[in-house]
Amino acid sequence: MTEPAAESASKKTMLKGMNHYELKSWFREQGEAAFRGDQVFNWMYNHRVLEFDQMVNLPKSLRHTLEETAQMQTLTEHHSIISPESATKKFLFKTNEGNIIESVIIPEEKRVTLCVSTQVGCPLDCKFCATGLMGYKKNLTAGEIFDQYLLAQKGYDREISNIVYMGMGEPLLNYKNTIKSLEIFGSELTTGISLRKITVSTSGIPAKIRELADTGMKVKLAFSLHSCFEGMRSKIMPINDKYSLHENLDALDYYAEKTNTRITYEYVMLKGINDRKEDLHALIKLSKKIPSKVNLIPFNSLAHMSPEGLSAELEPTSDKDIQIFAEKLRDNYITVMLRNTQGKDIAAACGQLAVKF
Ligand code: SAH
Ligand code: SF4
Repeated sequence: MTEPAAESASKKTMLKGMNHYELKSWFREQGEAAFRGDQVFNWMYNHRVLEFDQMVNLPKSLRHTLEETAQMQTLTEHHSIISPESATKKFLFKTNEGNIIESVIIPEEKRVTLCVSTQVGCPLDCKFCATGLMGYKKNLTAGEIFDQYLLAQKGYDREISNIVYMGMGEPLLNYKNTIKSLEIFGSELTTGISLRKITVSTSGIPAKIRELADTGMKVKLAFSLHSCFEGMRSKIMPINDKYSLHENLDALDYYAEKTNTRITYEYVMLKGINDRKEDLHALIKLSKKIPSKVNLIPFNSLAHMSPEGLSAELEPTSDKDIQIFAEKLRDNYITVMLRNTQGKDIAAACGQLAVKF
């Protein structure tokens, strides 16, 4: 008896997201030679084809079998919008189950950065973050993380040179899939993006920071610091009650040493919360402990989310005061970057999708 089409379609094996090893094993299990896994890896992640029929060094019969038994599309483009001012482009992608996630391309003169999501929503309730206000739905698969890159690149005329894991979600709470996606980007068989051009941003899960260091992948790590005081950090980032700043700094020290990279401290400038004199002094002191730089980020308003409680009270530090804060850090020999907020006209800043579940 033949099965209804919808049911057989859902039984297809999803190949996108499998790493090299998994693909080889899967082909072996299908009674095929393991090197078919190499070939398909190359077509999926390097040539980034969308149809099995485009894998021209596979026998026609195998391409046909793959069409029947496997699939590789994890996302479709739901909507996209490009800023006329800055060429920043925001994509909304739909997962196969119908969840919406966002990715943003931020072009600069010398590089083009893609910001990817790792979860649908986020379980960590940071008070300044639109994604946090949405709640949490699910972890993205490695295939869904990779396909944000594939589809964003297909929809943009300059080549993506850098990737930041700074969209929706906490990458280190989706550790397995984050690592797998990094393995795919970093494989010697893929030529698109090198791991040195990838930054993973975390709110701080110490055990996972150490584990990431031990993989030897040497991606850049950004830590969402936002306050140097445990009490204030806990107020704006409740996860700090579970994983303190102190514990995180130990893990970051380990990461910097093991990977020989500098940590980036992300610091969303919040008026009266983390831009006071004592905050400046504490940040100067903290920055000297571990090889690092500071990324000052203007706060994007959450007004469109109708927030409550502390979230409703948060206000941005003025541009002038951010400049002064940056100068004082520089006077103390700290490397400071000011994140530009290009794309504000299309609400494209990373992680600012206004959806409530
Ligand atoms: N969960 C990870 C990565 C996603 S958030 C993390 O927290 O690091 C990526 C960055 O966007 C973080 O530094 C976060 O603090 C920042 N961010 C969140 N909400 C913001 C807002 N309203 N305005 C500016 N930056 C924000
Ligand atoms: Fe999650 Fe990062 Fe937003 Fe915090 S800042 S809620 S960890 S996405």
